[in-house]
Amino acid sequence: MTAYEDVIAKYEPVIGLETHVELGTVSKMFCGCSTEFGGDPNTHTCPVCLGLPGALPVANEKAIESTIRIGLALNCSIAEWCRFARKNYFYPDMPKNFQTSQYDEPLCVEGYLDVEVDGETYRVGIERVHLEEDTGKNTHVGTSGRIHGADYSLVDYNRAGIPLVEIVTKPVPGTGALAPEVAKAYVTALRDILRTLDVSDVRMEQGSLRCDVNTSLNLPGAEWGTRTETKNVNSLRSVERAVRSEILRQAEVLDAGGRIVQETRHFQETTGDTRRGRSKEEATDYRYFPEPDLVPMAPDPAWVATLKDTLPELPAARRARMRDVLGVSADDMVHLTNAGVVDLVGATVEAGAPVGEARNWWLGYLAQKANEREVDPADLGVTPAHVARLVALVADGSLSTALARQVVDGILETGADVDTVVAERGLAVVSDTGALEQAADDAIAANPDVAEKVRGGKLPAVGALVGAVMKATRGQADAAAVKQILLARLGVSE
Ligand code: ADP
Ligand code: MG
Ligand code: ZN
Repeated sequence: MTAYEDVIAKYEPVIGLETHVELGTVSKMFCGCSTEFGGDPNTHTCPVCLGLPGALPVANEKAIESTIRIGLALNCSIAEWCRFARKNYFYPDMPKNFQTSQYDEPLCVEGYLDVEVDGETYRVGIERVHLEEDTGKNTHVGTSGRIHGADYSLVDYNRAGIPLVEIVTKPVPGTGALAPEVAKAYVTALRDILRTLDVSDVRMEQGSLRCDVNTSLNLPGAEWGTRTETKNVNSLRSVERAVRSEILRQAEVLDAGGRIVQETRHFQETTGDTRRGRSKEEATDYRYFPEPDLVPMAPDPAWVATLKDTLPELPAARRARMRDVLGVSADDMVHLTNAGVVDLVGATVEAGAPVGEARNWWLGYLAQKANEREVDPADLGVTPAHVARLVALVADGSLSTALARQVVDGILETGADVDTVVAERGLAVVSDTGALEQAADDAIAANPDVAEKVRGGKLPAVGALVGAVMKATRGQADAAAVKQILLARLGVSE
């Protein structure tokens, strides 16, 4: 058994995820400043997001709408009345000395998201979805890059006040050895939903989707253990690695008779380990109180009902529908999902290709090309419409499969469409019998010994002549047809 299997045989992991999503609104949460990424430092600021005395916030309706839509997509109940709260703390990334957030009155509560791992469904309970504002960005200048030992620090408030939604799961027990995979599957499913809702660009590497991963271990039958909260988890793969490494680390502490301390830990991308951060044993007292400068939110139930009715088709429903459209088995569907090509195959079928062909292209040659280029199949630059056209040309005999692959190479190099590549590169199958007969005669003349053998009854020798003709036609002839022509010219029959 591996060390990990040993640990799982002894302990039960519990996971919990806190995810922050920066909404893609045009303006900030409580003022009209731009949310655009990458402006010069402190150019997207005003008295409200700088927390100047007397400035008054006004809540961004679009952000509230997006939060409610997220809650609805996660099967939550939407509060009929709730308030923002002040979370008081002093840190220079928040010039107001408090963050406007939500405390005991979140907009959305009590939902769930079902995620699938290896064909099994795990229900992840959603505790709350609330709306808050992002903080500014500190840069500590000096060799350490951290506040300790920095020569000086710079603060950029462009990000301060960007609407931020926090999605907190309930603790998830019962995943056993698959805890890391379930954590990753949850963040993946959540990201796909957020993308479908079009509320955020959900880019983990740019920080518009950020995830804190809580992990604990307990002995079977015992109460849940003390959790640690791993921050800095900047990719889906890291979510999985963070849970796994934290399970291993905690087991080692527990096996040695130690106890787990409730603390934040920081994920190290290079080593895959977590490093101790700040202790959370004594809860920070943020002195939350209802925000007096903002009116309570009371979303009209009729409006919420409309938002619910107008949600787009969510990924799980789309997958179920695609499975019907494609008529594939559950296993095949898992295979297509893992390869990230369900929608691509679906769209290729909708563009007129048979399912089998669409599937073969996306799982075969195109998957290989995407892999080589280290991009998702969807970002390859070959579209379902291209593939449907290729399939049609192969079906009517204008292209062989080998030629169709060359067309794909051409699309990847030039970005042109199928017919343009075929025309520019002269990739159509040579079906002109006269041209093929001429090439066959040339091959016979150039290889008299081989021709003699074939005439003498050694039929397999004709392969060398077929090869010569294929070479002369740059692979654009149908090999079976070439063979028949050669045999006929040599006066032998099979
Ligand atoms: P905090 O602000 O202290 O991080 P939150 O309530 O925002 O607290 O989030 C706590 C997260 O930890 C939730 O996702 C919750 O499900 C998870 N959690 C709570 N208890 C455990 C536990 N024993 N093991 C793993 N995760 C847990
Ligand atoms: Mg937290
Ligand atoms: Zn502002």
